[in-house]
Amino acid sequence: MTNPITIQNADELFDDQVEIDAFQEASNQYLMLGIIAGATLAIEQLVDAAVTPEDVAALPAAVEAIKNMSLECAEHALETTKGSLNKLLQQALEDGWSNDKLADAIVEKYENIKKVRALRIARTETTGAVNKGIVETLKIEGVRYKVWVAIFHNTRDTHKQAHFETHANPVPIGNNFIVGESPAEAPGDSSLPPEERVNCQCTVVSGNFTDIFEKQYAIMFIREHSSIERPFKSRMKKEFEKQLKRVLLRL
Ligand SMILES: [Zn+2]
Repeated sequence: MTNPITIQNADELFDDQVEIDAFQEASNQYLMLGIIAGATLAIEQLVDAAVTPEDVAALPAAVEAIKNMSLECAEHALETTKGSLNKLLQQALEDGWSNDKLADAIVEKYENIKKVRALRIARTETTGAVNKGIVETLKIEGVRYKVWVAIFHNTRDTHKQAHFETHANPVPIGNNFIVGESPAEAPGDSSLPPEERVNCQCTVVSGNFTDIFEKQYAIMFIREHSSIERPFKSRMKKEFEKQLKRVLLRL
């Protein structure tokens, strides 16, 4: 056969460190914007807050959270991409595709990755960052209780349940929420399993909030969230485009 496939495994298509560094760097600034937006939202809930959003973003807990979130996000993105390219490669090897045919299929696969996964990453990570900013601000301002806010009616049942349970019994600020069977400091917490985390757009407020204010707050949260999610998604798309070029060079 002319032009045979030269690789056996998707691992051969990536320099892991290059990919992780690129995606980590790309997400850092949006996570930072998320923390600042969260701190701003939290400060608006409080009377006479002493901290500024910039103070919150400079807290060791916030800096550490951004580093961990961007690293986990980059590692997870690479794993997922390798998984889907390995499936493709398996089919290619079984069906005896040429290297050119494999390249075309990879280009097509990346169209889907750009469309679906860029949004998923931006949405999920923005939620995690904004809520981290909110919780850190509530903590530093001495707020004692927090509640989970499930904004959308079509959200997961476990998140609706967390909403109703914590509105009845607010959670001490330093404790974890329990969603499904998983502990979480806030919605979008990076320690949550994907089934409780991906595409979540829930938020968190002080336990002293009234339902009327909470509705306005939810609207503000969604507005801030979208203003970060949109450019974050575009940036992720660009990173996947650049990654595709690196991948094709290794075929
Ligand atoms: Zn949710």
